[in-house]
Amino acid sequence: MRYLITGGAGFIGSHLGEALLGQGHLVVALDDLSTGDPGNVAAHTAGGRFTFVKGSVLDEALVAELVEGCDVVVHLAAAVGVRLIVDQTLGSLATNVRGTQVVMQAADRFRRKVLLASTSEVYGQSQDVPLREDANHVLGRPVVARWSYSLAKAVDECLVNAYHRERGLSTIIVRFFNTVGPRQSPAYGMVVPRLVRQAVAGEPVTIYGDGRQTRCFLHVGDAVAALLSLLGDERAVGGTFNLGSSEEISVLDLGRRVIELTGSRSDIVFVPHEKVYGAHSEEPLRRVPDTARLRSLTGWRPTRSLDDVLLDVISEVRANAAVTK
Ligand code: NAD
Repeated sequence: MRYLITGGAGFIGSHLGEALLGQGHLVVALDDLSTGDPGNVAAHTAGGRFTFVKGSVLDEALVAELVEGCDVVVHLAAAVGVRLIVDQTLGSLATNVRGTQVVMQAADRFRRKVLLASTSEVYGQSQDVPLREDANHVLGRPVVARWSYSLAKAVDECLVNAYHRERGLSTIIVRFFNTVGPRQSPAYGMVVPRLVRQAVAGEPVTIYGDGRQTRCFLHVGDAVAALLSLLGDERAVGGTFNLGSSEEISVLDLGRRVIELTGSRSDIVFVPHEKVYGAHSEEPLRRVPDTARLRSLTGWRPTRSLDDVLLDVISEVRANAAVTK
């Protein structure tokens, strides 16, 4: 099979590409390298079945050409990370709404299956625990910049569902909950790579807010396994699936665990959200996925613990630090 991965030089995209190549498929990665990194896919070229195309999902002609040349599209390209969304809201909205429109139009024209990466952020301010796919979402206020990501991804889901219903297109929607692992950039607000870098460098480990907010972190290897199962299962078509771990931890305990596992002498320092993201800053307190739908269809379960995830990220950060010394 020939797979087109938009955002293929990013964190999840590069791991998915690697797994698909490992299964003998052909992979084309389209990426504008805004948050992705060519180093993420440097090893992909070895077998001659990988092509990297530097370009944007906003380029209609390029997207049409690449979609025509593939069998399946995995649409991961997006502006991601609270830092980026808050600092560059206009550009992020264009990528996250218009980019998906361009990809879906091309997929419809050439009748290609599409998997869309959505997010737990679409649940907005919902306080449900756990969050189920069919539960109502609670919209965040549009004046708060971070919610523009949530709203844009919700529009993407509407688009994808409409293409499935009205045009009979084969589509799958996956809502990722805090996926982490090697190659995730710390630059745009992702908590695990940031805390690990701070601890390894012996700098203060900064916790935004009081640290009581909780998250569930899934290893990217487990996320990729779920994507492969869904892509290979016709029963997944037309569906929306939560994808995440149910191992819940407060951000403060996460900071403590990172310090323990790195053996660091770093102190924990609390920083108010408003200081980091400005006056209109909001953050959901808990975000726990219900993954029963994914599990009952594919039998998928996470195989790695939070410590496994942290140890993998710690090794990567140490290895990179050793190279740059
Ligand atoms: P990432 O930033 O590493 O990947 C996104 C990729 O898209 C980057 O390589 C970036 O350069 C590329 N990109 C951005 N704008 C583009 C454009 N206009 N044209 C082409 N490429 C463009 O982040 P990720 O964590 O790998 O995210 C992948 C997908 O998963 C995204 O759609 C994101 O919304 C979704 N997601 C991820 C998480 C997570 O925890 N990592 C959680 C929820 C949703």
